[in-house]
Amino acid sequence: MNELTIANPANGQVIKTLQQTSQSDIARAFSKAKKSQRHWKETKLSERKRIIKAFNKNLDLEKAKLAKTLTKEVGKPISQSLNEIKGTVHRINYFLNHFEDVMKKTVYSKSEILEWEPLGVVGNISAWNYPYFVGSNVFIPALLTGNAVLYKPSEFATLTGQHISRLLRKSGIPSSIFQLLIGTGEVGASLLEEPIDGLFFTGSYPTGAKINQALSHRMIKVQMELGGKDPVYVTEDVDVQKVAEAVADGTFYNTGQSCCSVERIYVHKNIHREFVREFVDVVKGFRIGDPTNPNTYIGPLTRRAQIGVLMDQVNDALEKGARLETGGKPQTGTGNYFQPTVLSQTNHGMKIMRDESFGPIIGIQSVKSDSEAIEKMNDTTYGLTSSVYTKNQRRALKLMKEFQSGSVFWNCCDRVNPKLPWSGRGNSGIGSTLSEIGIQTFLQPKAYHLG
Ligand code: NAD
Repeated sequence: MNELTIANPANGQVIKTLQQTSQSDIARAFSKAKKSQRHWKETKLSERKRIIKAFNKNLDLEKAKLAKTLTKEVGKPISQSLNEIKGTVHRINYFLNHFEDVMKKTVYSKSEILEWEPLGVVGNISAWNYPYFVGSNVFIPALLTGNAVLYKPSEFATLTGQHISRLLRKSGIPSSIFQLLIGTGEVGASLLEEPIDGLFFTGSYPTGAKINQALSHRMIKVQMELGGKDPVYVTEDVDVQKVAEAVADGTFYNTGQSCCSVERIYVHKNIHREFVREFVDVVKGFRIGDPTNPNTYIGPLTRRAQIGVLMDQVNDALEKGARLETGGKPQTGTGNYFQPTVLSQTNHGMKIMRDESFGPIIGIQSVKSDSEAIEKMNDTTYGLTSSVYTKNQRRALKLMKEFQSGSVFWNCCDRVNPKLPWSGRGNSGIGSTLSEIGIQTFLQPKAYHLG
């Protein structure tokens, strides 16, 4: 296959050109993995644990260098790159502390025993926006539970994928048990042609749907962590300035390129004007620019093509009567920069309230009541997270029961906790990562009937 060119989104400069993994190399990688996985699943749990512990230590030791690479290839502000790696170390500790419990056999009686086996050789096709987080959600529990992994990082996070592969090897993972495949979606599609035992995908709904279709005739585990259009409801009883700050961070952190970024805001009509004013003030204070500067909060978009998507959402909203509060266009100069943008007086006829934006733009809409907020929040094909801000816990819990999403937040947003499962409703995906459920997902039960 052809070459892959890796460019810096902050200035367009080419960083590196790499050879993409060919179909025949993918087939070879699969057969090597298949042979070795039989041995890997018999390796003592303590040995697998020792290796992943060493990997986690190496990740921590090299975090400054790894963060620089991540910032260079995806444009993530350097402080946020470092945060991601530190957070990943914490997350991996969760897996290390819990996988043995999940794998324990259950003896119901002398003749009835339940044991857990790994799936085999699994494919992991991943996204670029949090390559350490979303990658380690899959390959760490997969490896700990005895699977072999064929890992295809996003073409926008390949250098990070190379670091991950290098550190796993350095820490003792056999070269056949974790293998890196380099390339675009074509390489991902080629991986699906191998007789893998499971496929774990993180990425957009349209790609997830294509993968689901390609694997529809195969009786293997397919797990999908997809996009979102995550709503927040701000009720009338809150400290407006504090909540505006928190929600603005949930919207614009990682330049709005998080699966759980806030993508729609509904504000009770009694405080709507005040909230918009405070929110816009916070956004105007965000520092946009060179992602290598530790004070930068908003960096370039990773993919240049997304500028067109954002511009289309802004123009569509303006044509349909939204009001531009700030931003609204790409930043002049080099790099994929888009101004942090706030639109008010939006409605559900506008793309900005329906389609995933995945960038630093947001629509704010006024609602009259809790029931209108619920109706609007659930009016989406997605269902990853939903949040409510109120001083009243009972009111919050009542609302949260109605939200159709895998995670619900009270007085917080844009948050992930390794103890709790990460899952979506609707077009946000199938299955869960994280928590004990996200470990068990790499295992299959075997029932022993002893006559
Ligand atoms: P994407 O769908 O463009 O690409 C994801 C991966 O799929 C890449 O590795 C790509 O090369 C590969 N791919 C593309 N076409 C393929 C095909 N036909 N067959 C097999 N593989 C193919 O997504 P992205 O731009 O990398 O990531 C952004 C999306 O991911 C957003 O929608 C975001 O919300 C979502 N996301 C979700 C979560 C979650 O936990 N739910 C986490 C991070 C990102």
